[in-house]
Amino acid sequence: MRNVATIQELRVHIGNARASGKRIGCVPTMGALHAGHLSLVHAAQHETDFVVATIFVNPTQFGADEDFSQYPRPLENDLTICREAGVDLVFHPDVETVFPRQNATFVEVPGLSEILEGASRPEHFRGVTTVVLKLLHMVLPDVVYFGRKDYQQQLLIRQMVCDLNVPVEIRTCPTVRDSDGLAMSSRNTYLSGTERETALELSRSLKHVRLQFEEHDITPAEACRILRRVLADTPELSIDYATIVDAETLLEVDETTSRDTDLVALVAGHAGSTRLIDNQPLHRPRTTG
Ligand code: AMP
Repeated sequence: MRNVATIQELRVHIGNARASGKRIGCVPTMGALHAGHLSLVHAAQHETDFVVATIFVNPTQFGADEDFSQYPRPLENDLTICREAGVDLVFHPDVETVFPRQNATFVEVPGLSEILEGASRPEHFRGVTTVVLKLLHMVLPDVVYFGRKDYQQQLLIRQMVCDLNVPVEIRTCPTVRDSDGLAMSSRNTYLSGTERETALELSRSLKHVRLQFEEHDITPAEACRILRRVLADTPELSIDYATIVDAETLLEVDETTSRDTDLVALVAGHAGSTRLIDNQPLHRPRTTG
């Protein structure tokens, strides 16, 4: 496995792989790698011939009061994980390489970037879409892999790639969870034992509402009320939003929403000072008779 920090070196290795006819798969990450990230690597290995993992803690997607400086950066351990997983190339640029001082251009997806995560974290998605577009231009992959855990993020990136005619295929891979149900996240390491117990209510409430929706004849709006009611039982979890939305438009369900709509339940909240997100697709209830 190679690991490089400059765009020049990256281009040499990618150029060589492409010259030998290999399809390039890219897995963008912020490091502190866990099994969720590795599931993207495995998907990339399955579908492409040369897998590039990028590790970059992107300052432009953190708000001023967020955890940019504190975010874990265990680079050596991440490189070992990548080597053992059979990644071909790791690109771990520094901030100056990706955002030189004179960088003036940002890319934004209005609308989708302003709701839910975007309402709680202004400028977050502007940083995400900008860095992803930059990484796509640096790596020039055939296929790029994202996690469903960041549901709104992958939708925004799909919109950007479509709007800007970026020649890349996008794959979204399922959320990987710990055995207790907590969605894996690099930020889970911040949690104390009690905070983790509190955080578990996110995945538990989502599972509960999914089962209610799939097994009972309730409307999307009723399901949304159930989700909020369940979460209200855990006041230690400070909820940013808990909602059920159209899986394509992210518009919140209301009394008129049909049960046939593709839906996703989305939650975000703080356990202690750690902000976590999670989601579950809601499938159409089984029809009877
Ligand atoms: P991050 O390093 O947190 O920016 O995540 C990098 C990529 O890994 C993103 O596409 C995330 O959606 C994805 N990812 C993070 N956690 C998980 C998880 N638990 N399951 C699946 N994908 C994940």
